[in-house]
Amino acid sequence: MALKTRVLVTGAGGFIGHHLVSYLKGLGYWVRGVDLKRPEYARTAADEFLLLDLRRWENCVAAARQIEEVYALAADMGGMGFISSHHAQILYNNSTINLHTLEAARQAGVRRYLYSSSACVYPEFRQTAAAVVPLKEEDAYPAQPQDAYGWEKLVTERLCTHYREDYGLETRIVRFHNIFGPLGTWEGGREKAPAALCRKVAIAKLTDNPQIDIWGDGLQTRSFCYIDDCVTGLHKLMRSNHREPLNLGQDRMVTINELAEMVAAAAGIRVVQRHIEGPQGVRGRNSDNTRLRAVLGWEPRIALEEGLKRTYLWIEALVRQDLGGRRAVSG
Ligand code: NAD
Repeated sequence: MALKTRVLVTGAGGFIGHHLVSYLKGLGYWVRGVDLKRPEYARTAADEFLLLDLRRWENCVAAARQIEEVYALAADMGGMGFISSHHAQILYNNSTINLHTLEAARQAGVRRYLYSSSACVYPEFRQTAAAVVPLKEEDAYPAQPQDAYGWEKLVTERLCTHYREDYGLETRIVRFHNIFGPLGTWEGGREKAPAALCRKVAIAKLTDNPQIDIWGDGLQTRSFCYIDDCVTGLHKLMRSNHREPLNLGQDRMVTINELAEMVAAAAGIRVVQRHIEGPQGVRGRNSDNTRLRAVLGWEPRIALEEGLKRTYLWIEALVRQDLGGRRAVSG
């Protein structure tokens, strides 16, 4: 029997990394997961899981040892509330993680390296209207990315391109557009809009108080992609010959208010939206999937309503536990 390909997933204790490890194990790969922490909500399926801080060079060397393919997902990361208020920390941490991981992979003789970039690399000047034109890969330049988070992603994209051109390391670059699903951060300040709305709606339902807070007027637009589609797309991109950055997301745009209504429908309740001050990011953002379809012959297919339902049910169970625990303590 052929030896299994040895894969490293960095950020394997996080949301996408954890799901990707399970998916790759299902396909028969040998997988090493690396992260600062183990997955919080389920056991990892990785063959080996190393707790390492990838800002440190020697840890990146250990992570890349005897590895053939790398999915580089580790990042200091969160929703708008987090990335709009931790610029220095994010730029320092993510730069050191990515500089060291890529160079260690090269020195270890890694054959393929997939870097997880973001729609945050797209220029803010193209995203000033809610009815935004969907973003094509070439729209990233001239550059004006969102926040330090987006600048770091753009620079590491360039680094991957230069490593391929100068050293022959086969790099792949994916630009995610709002990935969501169960087993992701849902409280604590780093959660993104779908998880935050699921939590707020679950609290509204379980406490019989229909009011939920939404940052801004809620008319800002985004597209959202369910996690199962995300990991399928990641693996397809790794196996493809496409070397330029590629969008990975849905191209169905909704407002945040509409997203909140969909979550409420999944919960089977009506909510009252209260709009409050809060970071909103760009006014509108959507993915142009023309190249994704052409390159992979595939695009995400799980309906937003279906993905939200699965995510909501997972978060509702956690909120129920949380509220039950608090009642037990106060009672
Ligand atoms: P996540 O925060 O759940 O996972 C990132 C993981 O990286 C975390 O488990 C964290 O502990 C780990 N990490 C952070 N610093 C580390 C360090 N110094 N050493 C080792 N591990 C470290 O985020 P996610 O949603 O799974 O995102 C995965 C990747 O995809 C990230 O690079 C992120 O920037 C990118 N991305 C995600 C989205 C999305 O919608 N979720 C959108 C755009 C880009």
